[in-house]
Amino acid sequence: TMKKSLVKRASFQSMRVATIRVWSNATSSSMHEACANAPRKKQHAMHAHSLTLKVDNIGFWAGLGYFYCFACYRLSCGFVYEGPKDILGGFKLDLRCASVSEPFQYEGHEHPLFLALTPEEEKSSICQICQEEGDEYNDWRKLTCIKCSYIICFRCATLPYKARYKHDKHLLVFRKKEEGNDHQGWCDICESEIVYSRKGGFYSCDDYCSTTVHVDCLLGKHPYMRPGQIKHNRLHEVLILHNKTMSRPFCHGKDHRCQDKLVFKKRNMTFCSL
Ligand SMILES: [Zn+2]
Ligand SMILES: [Zn+2]
Ligand SMILES: [Zn+2]
Ligand SMILES: [Zn+2]
Ligand SMILES: [Zn+2]
Ligand SMILES: [Zn+2]
Repeated sequence: TMKKSLVKRASFQSMRVATIRVWSNATSSSMHEACANAPRKKQHAMHAHSLTLKVDNIGFWAGLGYFYCFACYRLSCGFVYEGPKDILGGFKLDLRCASVSEPFQYEGHEHPLFLALTPEEEKSSICQICQEEGDEYNDWRKLTCIKCSYIICFRCATLPYKARYKHDKHLLVFRKKEEGNDHQGWCDICESEIVYSRKGGFYSCDDYCSTTVHVDCLLGKHPYMRPGQIKHNRLHEVLILHNKTMSRPFCHGKDHRCQDKLVFKKRNMTFCSL
């Protein structure tokens, strides 16, 4: 059995290396660099059991090729930290959320943040960045400051604070909504307006260029998804493609053209979400 487990481990590692290679070929995005150094086992404040690093690909683990992170509820594919499987399936975290440990130093706040809210408090509190409220958002996990009452959800806490934009030689910096600032700028990417006082924030260049971009326009609505194939359910496959044709495709069943970085194709129909 010793030999067996060694073989198993070796094949796991070669699979891991292979996947890292595919990923680094596919993107130079810094959002994925973390995976190369990720430890195989991990304790996380959010879960009682230790989590194991796996690759959620079709075939390898008989998965669907994607998962929703239990902290930020973002759609993700590839690496996953997973708890032991129970009736509800396993607890899952993407690499970014799994790398959040206490005390968490969020660059946008002066004090360290903790997972210190009770489940009831977490459900009823509102993130000060995205300010999303309602049932759909209540499950997003939240970090809080013990010194003041600052609260931020995992989705906002794990957005890169600085991000590269190919048409600006400086790093763009995340800026939260600006109270009382009724001015507006223009998004360099989609060329529509950015209202500075709108919730959710935006990215801008602090070095004299007046570059401003929407968060979704810079990172995509699904920053942790890659082009490739996943399964919508056991029967239907979904192709994920770069959305880079000049004439954007019509979104099936919606009255818009899909503008996001990625599109999902199911049986010749195009969607901008799964
Ligand atoms: Zn997450
Ligand atoms: Zn948020
Ligand atoms: Zn504080
Ligand atoms: Zn935009
Ligand atoms: Zn600049
Ligand atoms: Zn669409």
